[in-house]
Amino acid sequence: MKCYDFQEDKVVQKMEMTVLADNISRVKDSIAAAAVKSGVRADDILLVAVTKTHSAETVNLALQAGITHFGENKVQEAAQKLPLIIEPYDGFHFIGHLQTNKVKALLQLNPCLIHSVDSLHLAREIDKIAGNLIKKQEILLQVNTSGEDCKSGCEPAELIALVTAVSELPNLVIKGLMTIGRLSESAEDSRQDFNLLKKLSADLKAQNISGLDLKWLSMGMTSDYQIAIEEGANLVRIGSAIFGERHYNNEN
Ligand SMILES: *Cc1c(COP(=O)(O)O)cnc(C)c1O
Repeated sequence: MKCYDFQEDKVVQKMEMTVLADNISRVKDSIAAAAVKSGVRADDILLVAVTKTHSAETVNLALQAGITHFGENKVQEAAQKLPLIIEPYDGFHFIGHLQTNKVKALLQLNPCLIHSVDSLHLAREIDKIAGNLIKKQEILLQVNTSGEDCKSGCEPAELIALVTAVSELPNLVIKGLMTIGRLSESAEDSRQDFNLLKKLSADLKAQNISGLDLKWLSMGMTSDYQIAIEEGANLVRIGSAIFGERHYNNEN
């Protein structure tokens, strides 16, 4: 994934309902096709629409068009947008790199799932603030399965130790693992990353760590979600295929 310099105050992208509804049904069809191929039920795969850079108006339209879960990757952008979302939804997901000084602002937005926990330091901060707010926060642990330098995520070899330590924090609930497939010309290249995450999840289950419920494998984006589903993803995070290309400046 490219590392964009993103300006939170330039969230200007808007869309038309018909285009959006078409895109969503196309994505749902192709999720269903991939599910058939991998022998799982389409209903068991959660589609999280990634709404970063898109206006609250567009998010409201997507919710009208049948999206139930959406994800953002910047706390400040989410904090500006969420108060403007008037359509009901089932879950707001946080999928981006999270700094400890933004945790409090994030938890106030009531995320149903934070996908990007990759250190004990960050987990402890979320645990502390969740405790202050008297809530249990569901999280995923992000793993750097591709070994690329610019990717967040804990190293695969560190995962068991991290899970063991995080599972002792009283206000966090580990619900699974998340990864981002490698940046490559061919989506097929991500297959090994997704396969590794699935294997890590199976290894963890075999450890019988008490209270651990690894429900979600969050993997797959616009370019590679069919492959992720074939490799066992049951949560896909899809932006561009629903909302079109993102613009990170004022051009439109
Ligand atoms: C932006 C983003 C996505 C969605 O990317 P698309 O290629 O537009 O589908 C998924 N996951 C994360 C972590 C992201 O930051």
